[in-house]
Amino acid sequence: MTSPQQLEALVHQQKTFFSSGQTRPLEFRRQILRRLQEAIEKEEAAIIAALAQDFGKPPFETYATEIAILLSEIKFLLRHLPQWVKLRKVKSSFLNFPSRDAIYAEPYGVSLVIGAWNYPFQLTLSPMLGAIAAGCCAILKPSELTPATSQLTARLIQENFPPEYLAVVQGGPEVSQTLLELSFDKIFFTGSVPVGKIVAQAAAKQLIPVTLELGGKSPCLVDETANLAVAAKRIVWGKFLNAGQTCVAPDYLLVQESVAAPLLEHLAQTITEFYGSSPAESPDFARIINERHFNRLKGLLAQENVYAGGQTDAARRFIAPTLLSGVTWEHPIMQEEIFGPLLPVLTFQTLPEAIAQVNAQPKPLALYFFTENGKAKEAVLTRTSSGGACINDTISHLTNPFLPFGGVGTSGHGNYHGKASFDAFSHQKSILMKPSRPDLPLRYPPYADKLGWI
Ligand code: NAD
Repeated sequence: MTSPQQLEALVHQQKTFFSSGQTRPLEFRRQILRRLQEAIEKEEAAIIAALAQDFGKPPFETYATEIAILLSEIKFLLRHLPQWVKLRKVKSSFLNFPSRDAIYAEPYGVSLVIGAWNYPFQLTLSPMLGAIAAGCCAILKPSELTPATSQLTARLIQENFPPEYLAVVQGGPEVSQTLLELSFDKIFFTGSVPVGKIVAQAAAKQLIPVTLELGGKSPCLVDETANLAVAAKRIVWGKFLNAGQTCVAPDYLLVQESVAAPLLEHLAQTITEFYGSSPAESPDFARIINERHFNRLKGLLAQENVYAGGQTDAARRFIAPTLLSGVTWEHPIMQEEIFGPLLPVLTFQTLPEAIAQVNAQPKPLALYFFTENGKAKEAVLTRTSSGGACINDTISHLTNPFLPFGGVGTSGHGNYHGKASFDAFSHQKSILMKPSRPDLPLRYPPYADKLGWI
């Protein structure tokens, strides 16, 4: 179902369903969330199998980063939704006396969710949770690069929900572009910066509100006060999870010169601890998504800079967890988001110099800083800009539903997760309610000498 006429008819069906008001009652939204929770639990084995088929994702990683994250988000929404849907009273202004003022979270309507391939199940369904919670209908367009997971997502939605409420449309860029021509009330896009620009332009043509969850090069700083052994574990985990194909993975390390050598040793040891001396045989290390990305990454892998790893196997789309030392900003690997298991290590002498290096780049989706120095921590957090940040950890900030997740600058705009997901699909309607009496005359013409009264 991907012809322009079929897609237009689907949007029309969803608009009609949305207009019927059926998606709005709190109990309807909660029932749908519960049904989805059951469906995900029931399909756990199938989800794990689909991701293993698409790119050899280890079952533990699929459970933790695709399934558990969605289930905990559903629980959070179920718990807090009754509060969020209430009319939120605010103070009224003296100017409008007497009035009662409130904010109503109004569902945008029919939304389009376009997903990326790297966490293909979660990145499509998680925004959809926000749409359901807010009372919207949704059409999901998962990535074409993970056919098994996209097929499973389509089946799961089709078996549990009517298409006039939630539907999955499969296909590549052409299908996305056809969808982007249609008149949605909200677009939620996860993907690359170049495609984000295409989506933003399409949304702008119709003035459709859009959330852009994009990528970029997320820096990871390590200063000389850091606990290097712990830093190494948390960096290796965050970088090589999903074989580095994570939007918030540390893209590159910026390490204080004085500790670069011992940190590299710790990192190399940790890689062996986590994935063994032959990572190609490790059941805990994913594969590169496709041949194009395998070749792109291989092209970025300059053997003269390899400190550890560096092995590749085209037949299995395997690239070893790799540390690259002696890298400078001029190197090709520093010109694009790496999105794979290659970790270049650059150095700095002083913190202001490191901050300047970060600030010379487009604003990243995440920034990580390993330090035991409170002043340094404050300086980095307040003098750099990034979508999110962790001190002495990587990636984990996105698991807290109380923290809105999103980018800034070229890494995107808008947020989701927890309440932010609900807000992403809601219009904050400001309402002023006035009784007919008294009807104070001050504001009405003729103004005559009323200026003197105020
Ligand atoms: P992508 O931009 O190539 O594709 C994303 C989606 O857009 C897919 O569904 C694809 O079919 C569609 N698409 C591709 N080309 C299109 C076009 N010309 N017109 C309209 N739609 C098009 O991204 P990807 O390769 O799937 O994902 C990797 C990128 O996504 C990385 O940059 C990564 O950092 C980013 N990402 C960001 C987040 C986040 O939460 N901020 C999460 C995951 C991935």
